[in-house]
Amino acid sequence: MEEVADGVVRVTFDLPLGIDHVHCYFLRASSGAWTLVDTGLGSRDPEARWRPVLDELDAPVERIVVTHMHPDHVGGARDVAELTGAPVLQGREDYAQCVSAWGAERSLPRLAGWWEAHGLPPGLAEGMRQEADNLGRAVHWVADPELLDDDDTVDGWRVQVLRGHADGHIVLRRGDVMIAGDTVLGGITPAIGQYPNSRPDPLGDYLETLDKIEAMELSLALTGHKHRLRDPSARAREIRAHHHDRLDAAAAALGDEPRSAYEVSLELFEADLSPVLRRFALAETLAHLERLVVTDRAVRADGGYRAP
Ligand SMILES: [Zn+2]
Repeated sequence: MEEVADGVVRVTFDLPLGIDHVHCYFLRASSGAWTLVDTGLGSRDPEARWRPVLDELDAPVERIVVTHMHPDHVGGARDVAELTGAPVLQGREDYAQCVSAWGAERSLPRLAGWWEAHGLPPGLAEGMRQEADNLGRAVHWVADPELLDDDDTVDGWRVQVLRGHADGHIVLRRGDVMIAGDTVLGGITPAIGQYPNSRPDPLGDYLETLDKIEAMELSLALTGHKHRLRDPSARAREIRAHHHDRLDAAAAALGDEPRSAYEVSLELFEADLSPVLRRFALAETLAHLERLVVTDRAVRADGGYRAP
């Protein structure tokens, strides 16, 4: 554990995903206790994972805030809630998406069919299905969180919905410090993907988020992965430029004949990717193609996309 700002302690867990670690944050609460933000993946042995961390703290955890419903952030919520007795707080919209992604209506055959409809070869779709199956088992979300809305306050931290990486992603802000989740990252760009239950234009949502982050003029963003950001506005500008380049590359990959999103993804990303990274690549390509449709730079045709 490491103190990364006044009253903010960071703990980092290993991840067996496309990225090898995730950060969670303990914020000193006004009561002297702690607020935990994000929970890593769910564990088969929550006691072994969390007890050493909780024992290092000088006071109990009094609440748990989840920034978004991705497995590496919401996954351990139930584990640590059961160990601490603390309530879980989650964004209202994010929670609805959490239930639809990980709850009873989740259907892996339907998910695989959706990927195949976007051109993914059946063999790769099967690999993704297995990976999604394993991942689903590591998502220990809670059934009855307290729901947060934009502009709510949690113990002096302001809640803000910043869409794009996840539809209902929330951050916490106090002064010029933001607990950012994956809204902005250093060294890598947050994945912006289109999924069956996503809002229609996640990249458009995310470009608005980058504008908002740039305008905040923060001095510190504490992120879900990689290093903390001392100049989040500058990083927001870099990430925006990256997406405009990728939009141009996606537009350049289109011609008169419709191409599937998978075919386009092979031009935008390396061909030799694991099933996990191939899924990210396809979802990211779809988000860019849908943004091109919204801005009249592409049209949907025969289940794929072509130039207008
Ligand atoms: Zn993450």
